[in-house]
Amino acid sequence: MKVLVAVKRVVDYNVKVRVKADGSDVDIDNVKMAMNPFDEIAVEEAVRLKEAGKVSEIIAVSLGSKKCEETLRTALAMGADRAIHVETDHKLEPLTVAKVLKKVAEKENPQLLFLGKQAIDNDANQTAQMLAALLNAPQATFAFKIDLSDNEVTVKREIDGGEETVALTFPAVISTDLRLNEPRFVKLPNIMAAKKKPLEKISPEDLGIDTMPRLQVLKVSEPKPRQAGVKLTDVVELVDKLRNEAKVI
Ligand code: AMP
Repeated sequence: MKVLVAVKRVVDYNVKVRVKADGSDVDIDNVKMAMNPFDEIAVEEAVRLKEAGKVSEIIAVSLGSKKCEETLRTALAMGADRAIHVETDHKLEPLTVAKVLKKVAEKENPQLLFLGKQAIDNDANQTAQMLAALLNAPQATFAFKIDLSDNEVTVKREIDGGEETVALTFPAVISTDLRLNEPRFVKLPNIMAAKKKPLEKISPEDLGIDTMPRLQVLKVSEPKPRQAGVKLTDVVELVDKLRNEAKVI
């Protein structure tokens, strides 16, 4: 069984992003980048399924600038078998990514397609759903447990106030949530070995996909700074403030 895992290069989750002075976007020059955390979970899950003898090949795919190679090498070091870099310097929207992944899936014929539930840079939470729709394939989003058998995959998903269990036939699109697993720490020998694994390069144009943006960002702004708190002496003062300042009682 083949698994295709989509891995996005994003600003590292520890970095506090700054908005550009002209409010057009966030400033990512000289900022530490890393694999999207939900995609790391997706790679880890695929690798665990391979280690359990349930999966035969893991293909990591990333779309974006030349630097995405680093992200793909990380996926290879974690245990992916080969990588496909769809190289472009254009700004990509979820629909474009989904269209490209569909083309790659049609070429590779994976039974499972793992994506993160959302990219932590745009917080779109759209690509997996769009990909499933384009492929006309079943989808399970926000997966926190995956059980694989020969003819179906059972997924437990996070839903508001509980969990849901769904069974999907192949090919299935699954988006990973935080509770699914804890990604492994990549060791140096694996990083070295990953350098020798195959990394194929293609462009969206090779796949016949037009990357022209359909959406326009009007403005990006920092969240409003929070007002400093005050210490009150007693409940009487609190009630007074709630009644006369906040006017909520
Ligand atoms: P989003 O819908 O943008 O929140 O992204 C959801 C998931 O789609 C990510 O966690 C990735 O698995 C995948 N994805 C989005 N953009 C890319 C990209 N440029 N390259 C590879 N995978 C991507």
